Amino acid sequence: MELYRKKEECCGCGACGDVCPVGAIHMVMDGEGFWYPEIDEKICIKCGKCERTCPIKGKKPEKAGNSYDSYFGLRAKDKDLRLASSSGGMFPLLADYVFRRQGVVYGAAYDRDMRVAHREAQNREELEALKRTKYVQSDLTGIYRRIRQYLEEGRWVLFSGTPCQAHALRLSLGKAYPKLIVADLVCYGAPSPGIWRSYVGYLERRRGGKMTAFSFRDKRAGDNGHTCAYVTGGKEYAGSLNADLYCRMYFTDHIIRPACHACAYCTVDRDSDFTLGDFWGIGKVRPDMDDRFGTSMVILHTELAREIWEEVKEEADWFPCGREDVLQPRLVGPTKASAHRERFMGLYQRLPFVLFLKWFWLKLSWREFQRRLMGGRGGK
Ligand SMILES: Cc1cc2nc3c(=O)[nH]c(=O)nc-3n(C[C@H](O)[C@H](O)[C@H](O)COP(=O)(O)OP(=O)(O)OC[C@H]3O[C@@H](n4cnc5c(N)ncnc54)[C@H](O)[C@@H]3O)c2cc1C
Repeated sequence: MELYRKKEECCGCGACGDVCPVGAIHMVMDGEGFWYPEIDEKICIKCGKCERTCPIKGKKPEKAGNSYDSYFGLRAKDKDLRLASSSGGMFPLLADYVFRRQGVVYGAAYDRDMRVAHREAQNREELEALKRTKYVQSDLTGIYRRIRQYLEEGRWVLFSGTPCQAHALRLSLGKAYPKLIVADLVCYGAPSPGIWRSYVGYLERRRGGKMTAFSFRDKRAGDNGHTCAYVTGGKEYAGSLNADLYCRMYFTDHIIRPACHACAYCTVDRDSDFTLGDFWGIGKVRPDMDDRFGTSMVILHTELAREIWEEVKEEADWFPCGREDVLQPRLVGPTKASAHRERFMGLYQRLPFVLFLKWFWLKLSWREFQRRLMGGRGGK
């Protein structure tokens, strides 16, 4: 069996490993810090389930060029809820809908060692860890299977994740479940979990303490979440998102997974129920709604989404808009890799991390960042 030939052909969703009936597939991290599946040929029975479940190799989303979609801007009325979310708080509103039906919610959270992995929440308290964007590719080992179990038991399930993960979930289930709600995100690209791990270690050594929190989209400054804040050794540090070195590596397009640069989901037409993102350009479309504490962009794709919307919208200030109002760069096409990505990744693998960061800061970071500000790439 061969699941991918080039790295561009694997999005790292991990669904192939989850559906393998004999446990022949394990995810292994490469030198750039991304997971790829490895097949144990001695165990593999060549059933082909892994290939059918792959979002790149398997069946493509059925919906395309959809005239059925509706587009909205939304802010949760509960300001605390919105402050604890990255955009306008649509995800926690959907989660509440599911909790009211004794359902289960899946999203990305940090573990004790600040690794990012999907996990479940069954109430508002457990949901806290799932809120907020983590700019690190999330590990979904075991998740697809658990979701299937809940759905077979007749429970409601809300799954939130990147569009490739969401499509992988649908393929892994193999059939439609009426109580499954899929909310996929607008996605700039999945950043390297290995580089994130190196960065956490670097900050812990520099600050002298274990990291216990990292918020990529802190809203305390009323800057639409462009502050980044973390806690190490019990002490909090906060600063501009654009000044943080990890974020800078991400926003200058050096640490994104190769497959993301050829992503087929950078479009409005998806096979999920909801697509969620930041409402880019809210200041132009509805300046009266821009209080700089975040507004969600919400697309409804299905009849189920419309039904849920009728209930959820009561908890929010919202407005309808047109397709052209929501068309941000990542709904039009994928992020292009930096021209320096190969050199960057080569040095990441060769240099001690502190030296590597210094090199990035001095040689690449400013030049690339300025180029981006001058209007190149249509960033996050
Ligand atoms: C890697 C990444 C890139 C993104 N790029 C864009 C972009 O270019 N443009 C844009 O408009 N929006 C982007 N988003 C989405 C945006 O940041 C918000 O997550 C989204 O608008 C939901 O916000 P909220 O206020 O409704 O929910 P919140 O309460 O903030 O919840 C965040 C949601 O995102 C999920 N999530 C967080 N981190 C991850 C992760 N690493 N992998 C999978 N799911 C995760 C959580 O489980 C939760 O469902 C990106 C998100 C991620 C994770």
